[in-house]
Amino acid sequence: MPVQSVPSASPYQLDYAELNWQEGDAPAATQYNDIYFSGHQGLEETEYVFLQHNQLQQRWRQLGSGNSSTSTIFTIGETGFGTGLNFLAAWRLWQQQAPDNWQLHYFSVEKHPLRLQDLQRSLNTWPELHSFAKQLITEYPVLLPGHHLLKFDQGRVTLHLLLGDAIDCLEQLHCSDHPELMLADDIKAYPQVDAWFLDGFAPAKNPSLWNDPLYTLIAQLSAAGTTLATFTAVGDVRRGLAKQGFNMEKTTGFGNKREMLKGVLTQHYPHYDTTLKTRKKGLSAPWYVAGHSAKKKQVTIIGGGLAGTSSAYAMAQRGWQVTLVERTPALAQGASGNSQGMLYTKLSPKPGKLNQFTLSSYLYALRFYRQLLEQQHLSPEQLDFCGVLQLATDEKEKKLQQQLQQLFAGQPELVQFFDSTQASEVANIELTHPGWYFPQAGWLSPSDLCRSLATHPRIEIVYNTEVLELEYEQQWKVNSTSGNTLSQNTLCCAEVVIIANSRDAIQFKQTESLPLKTIRGQITGIESTGKLAQLNTVICHEGYLTPAINGAHSLGATFDNNDSNTTLRNQDHQRNLQSLLQAIPSLTKDFIDVDMDSLTGRASLRCTSRDYLPLVGPVHNYQQFLEDYAPLRKNAHLPFSTPGSYYPGLYINVAHGSRGLTSTPLCSELLAATICNETAVLPRELVSALNPARFVIRDLVRNKI
Ligand code: SAM
Repeated sequence: MPVQSVPSASPYQLDYAELNWQEGDAPAATQYNDIYFSGHQGLEETEYVFLQHNQLQQRWRQLGSGNSSTSTIFTIGETGFGTGLNFLAAWRLWQQQAPDNWQLHYFSVEKHPLRLQDLQRSLNTWPELHSFAKQLITEYPVLLPGHHLLKFDQGRVTLHLLLGDAIDCLEQLHCSDHPELMLADDIKAYPQVDAWFLDGFAPAKNPSLWNDPLYTLIAQLSAAGTTLATFTAVGDVRRGLAKQGFNMEKTTGFGNKREMLKGVLTQHYPHYDTTLKTRKKGLSAPWYVAGHSAKKKQVTIIGGGLAGTSSAYAMAQRGWQVTLVERTPALAQGASGNSQGMLYTKLSPKPGKLNQFTLSSYLYALRFYRQLLEQQHLSPEQLDFCGVLQLATDEKEKKLQQQLQQLFAGQPELVQFFDSTQASEVANIELTHPGWYFPQAGWLSPSDLCRSLATHPRIEIVYNTEVLELEYEQQWKVNSTSGNTLSQNTLCCAEVVIIANSRDAIQFKQTESLPLKTIRGQITGIESTGKLAQLNTVICHEGYLTPAINGAHSLGATFDNNDSNTTLRNQDHQRNLQSLLQAIPSLTKDFIDVDMDSLTGRASLRCTSRDYLPLVGPVHNYQQFLEDYAPLRKNAHLPFSTPGSYYPGLYINVAHGSRGLTSTPLCSELLAATICNETAVLPRELVSALNPARFVIRDLVRNKI
């Protein structure tokens, strides 16, 4: 009998794989009483069953030769990531066979991920895969539910590790769950998997995986010609997949297994399946579906801060030629210009969309910056993963600490919980409050980061040029002032434009309706003397304090809504200092005689949104939305089938607030994936939660506009 695993109490906690080790260090799953791979023949079996029976060697050799398709992505889908053996074997073959300009996207779902030490032990079995395994182990994420994006070989190989139940995760890969849009030919509602590895333990031991809803999703996520292979030859599996249009065939199994199955989809006929549980909730929104395919890989990006440079980098990495237009004579002159910014995430006991996004983007940012450091795009003087300590300075926060401690107990690599003595030890200064500690976090220099990202050879920067308006005539005319002259000229024409100029986005006609908020923030620089000089970590309280760089600490920051004056203010230095001394009274002596006039600092304007999530995605046509969805004012539950009206090739990436360092890497990946018609790097629900059109829909529903 299959053993049913007990669901975990915390929404942040997955049930990890419980292993027992068989001869030759081969892992077996206690939950399922089944093996991950066949002892020392596991790699050979993987190559035989999954690689050979999807004809990957032949298919990858032929990529790019005489093929009229413009896509340069090959996609594999897998049920059951397990030890990652199949992934590593596929990656090795990809390196050997595929042309350099092609990318491999590997989607794998996993309900019971292996703990890192178990993954390491399992992969030790394969010395021939050592160099690949080492990289997977370095990148292996904190095991939280959701979509984890892992990049290898400078983006040539992307692993989308989807932690959770297969059906729930695969279902979130659709860009729409609207029944009519799912059937529309002109809307690419599905990512198209080219080859499937169906590897989720034997059907008899895991019947809840191998069933019709899974087969439906597999077919929906496939295209004509998509292949699949699986080690099992069970009749129900063969019939279930055949019912979805796969031409199924039994063939000789590996080793002493008599038979296995392979299949190819003859015709793609997407259909809406009401048995999938997320769709039972009723009809869903068609308004977030946009589709545009650029003919040329050229993009103009407006704004040279974190959002602009990271978008530029994500597009350049995909082979696009980027023109980055910046109003001032240098990059990172706005809120991205501080010398130290925190890499940090907020935790909440409620796993809502904001919290899911914050955690996903934080974890991706850590991986992204670690790779930049390894590739020497950033130096240890510009980035320090020194840890971030969040102090619980009042009763409310102490209670929150207790709640979080229960929810995140199993993830010490993400967060640890300290009393005031432990907190003092880790920070190396005397603290009177308890707190929680993010061991992998730290600080980095946003301005150095912007400059470094923009050195990509496919990025050209045009300085001293303010874009005044965007006009669409077959493509976008980017009208601007250039140099020091104020005469209006047309800088360039572009099929694709990304608006990444923070709150100034509202100066364009197409984006003037976006509800962007401005928040003034001032930071204070303080000399590194006395006890402060010993500080080891970033400390967050109401504000924050960083370890010193070049003899000075950054102390921040004030928050003033709707104040757009960037002149430094002494009273704001005083506010920063007071808040620090309230949180860390032991520093009082060091600041008793401080002369406010001698303090340095920087004031800048952050841009944020009403729901504190950034705005990332295609730009909608506001007036058309008002017309198309006007009936929402009277009835929020009316079914609609008109897809959203979006400006062709116009995108936006703004409103990162004070967390741009953490949010822009993932948002820029999401935007680049959207522009390039790749599968999203976040679950559909989160992609929709970032779509700039969300406010007009909400306002219509609330009858506010
Ligand atoms: N492909 C793996 C490898 O290369 O090591 C081996 C996969 S192992 C045979 C099957 C995997 O499927 C297990 O890791 C198991 O936790 C996972 N699994 C089982 N049921 C699942 C479900 N409903 N959703 C997601 N993953 C599931």
